[in-house]
Amino acid sequence: MKYKLIRTWRKTLALQLKGWVLIVRSPKLMPKFMIENFVSKHKNWIEKKMKVAYPKWIPVKKSDNEILELKKKAKQYIPERVEYFAKKYNKKYNKIRITSARTRWGSCTSAKNLNFSYRLIQADTKAIDYVIVHELAHLKHMNHSKAFWSHVEEMMSDYKYWDQWLKKEGRKLW
Ligand SMILES: [Zn+2]
Repeated sequence: MKYKLIRTWRKTLALQLKGWVLIVRSPKLMPKFMIENFVSKHKNWIEKKMKVAYPKWIPVKKSDNEILELKKKAKQYIPERVEYFAKKYNKKYNKIRITSARTRWGSCTSAKNLNFSYRLIQADTKAIDYVIVHELAHLKHMNHSKAFWSHVEEMMSDYKYWDQWLKKEGRKLW
């Protein structure tokens, strides 16, 4: 579990959630293993709090199994959704690849291959749609020109909201 450690001249350990960041306040000289123990002892409490604040929150450090599960879901859902939009807007792409990228939710190559991060599967379905539409628009415009954005808007009128949403909330999907 990831956390930000703040050491001060206090006597006890304390946990605090600031948004989705876990802050651990500890005495200045307390050994790291004691802090780690404290955090893992309170893991359930932290996860419960996180889930209330962010229903879609998934712990930052995912287990191998969780990652496999998400990748499986992404491989089922994303290509199908791409196909839906491709048919609707008459787009021809080559291959779809599911990647592990953290901040690049999607990309489009000059060979017309589309890449999507498996992490995206944890996002709101509208956010997923936005990334798909964004990459499909790159098949026509390989840049972020005005023409590109108006093409995105043709396919998804509220795309700006989801673009912002990913910028603000995207890290929760790591
Ligand atoms: Zn782009």
